[in-house]
Amino acid sequence: MILKNLTTVEGKNISIEINGDKIAKIYEGIAPVGENMEGSLVTPSLIDAHAHLDSNFLLDVCKEAETPKFIEALQALLECKEKLRPEDIYSLAKKSIYYYLSHGSLYVRTHVMIDDNIDRLKYIAKLKEEFKDMINIQIIGFIQSYSYFNEEVEENMYKALEYADGIGGQPHLQPSREDGIMMIKKIFDAVEGKNKLLDFHADFADDSETKFSEVIISEALKRKMYGKVSLSHVTAMHSYNEDYFRRYLKWLRESEASVIVAPITALEESGAFEQYPKRRGIARVLDLLSAGVNVALGHDDIQNHLNPYGVGDMLQAGFVLAISSYMYFSPYARTIFDLMTYNGAKALHLSNYGLQVGNDADLVIYNAKSPLEALRDVKPRKMVISKGKIIYESKIEEKTVW
Ligand SMILES: [Zn+2]
Repeated sequence: MILKNLTTVEGKNISIEINGDKIAKIYEGIAPVGENMEGSLVTPSLIDAHAHLDSNFLLDVCKEAETPKFIEALQALLECKEKLRPEDIYSLAKKSIYYYLSHGSLYVRTHVMIDDNIDRLKYIAKLKEEFKDMINIQIIGFIQSYSYFNEEVEENMYKALEYADGIGGQPHLQPSREDGIMMIKKIFDAVEGKNKLLDFHADFADDSETKFSEVIISEALKRKMYGKVSLSHVTAMHSYNEDYFRRYLKWLRESEASVIVAPITALEESGAFEQYPKRRGIARVLDLLSAGVNVALGHDDIQNHLNPYGVGDMLQAGFVLAISSYMYFSPYARTIFDLMTYNGAKALHLSNYGLQVGNDADLVIYNAKSPLEALRDVKPRKMVISKGKIIYESKIEEKTVW
C-alpha cells in the first residue's frame, strides 16, 4: 500500500509505502503511484500516556453523584468501581479500546487499581492480549491509596508484577509524609532490577507543600533508574514557589524522569476546595520542556463521575493544553504533537515507533493539513493504520444551504 501526498508535522510533503506491518519506504514529495491523501497531515500513532481502563464509562452502569461537587463525585466513582462485576470491567474496557482506536491512540498506558485485589488487572491483561494486533496497552498496577498502604496492598503489588508493565500509586494520599515516603520506597524495592517501569500519580494536589515527587526523583537517582520513572499530573507544581521549582527542576532533569500531564482532568479537579481566585493546576509544561525534561500527554478518564465529557481523543487533550498552558501560539501546535507522539514513546519506552523506514506502520492521517488545524478543528480522523492495516476511516460530507 502506498499513501501519497501527505504532510508531516514539520510541513514536509511525503508519501509512505507500507509492506506488511512495517514502513517500507518514505518518498519525498508525491510518489508516482498510490492513494492520494491530498496533503493531509500524517503522524505516527498518537500515544495516550495516562488512562484508566478500569474507570472509563462508569456512567454507563452507575449514577452520577447527586451533588455536582468533586468529593461526592469521587466517592460515587470509587463506590461504582468497587462494585463492578468482572463482565462490566471487561466490556467497559473493550468500549474504551474502540474509542482509543478510532481516535488514533494505538498506544495507551493504563493505570489499573490493585489496592483490594488484582482481578481488574487480570481482566485488562486478558483484553491486552486479545487486542494486541491492533492496540498496544501498557499496564501500570495502580495503588489508588484511599486506604492505608499495608502488607495486604504490598502483597497485591508483588502479585500485580506478573501481569503489569509497571507499578504506581498516589503517595500523597497516605496519612503522613513518612507513610507516603515508605510507600514510594517499597514500590521502588518491588521493581528495582526488574524490567519494569514506574508511573506515580505524583503530587496530584493544590497544596504547594505536597512534595512527594522530590522523594521519587531522589529514589530514581539513588537506584540509578534513569528514565524509568514517570510523574503523572504533578499539579502541585503549579503552586511551587520559584526558588523551590528551580532546584526541583535540576534534579528532575538529572533523573531523566518524564512528566505526564492530563490537562482535562487537571483543570476539572484543581481548585475544588478553594474560593476564588482558584488554582488551575497544570504542571509547568513550557518550563519543563525548556529545561530538557520529557513531557508527555494523557487524556485520562472517559465518561465517568469525574469527567463526563471525555471521549479519549488526544486532540481534545492537546487543545485543552494549548489553551490552559500558554501554548496557544501557532508554533506550539507542533510541540503539542511531539508531546502526543515521540515524547509519549520515550515515556513508555517504545521501540520501532515513528515515521522511519523499518518501524511499525502505525499511522494516523488527519482531516487537516497542519498541526494547528488538527488541534483547532478536532475532526474525526481520516484514517488510522495499525500494524499496516487500515482499522478506521471516516468521510466528512458537508451540505450547506447558502
Ligand atoms: Zn490517573
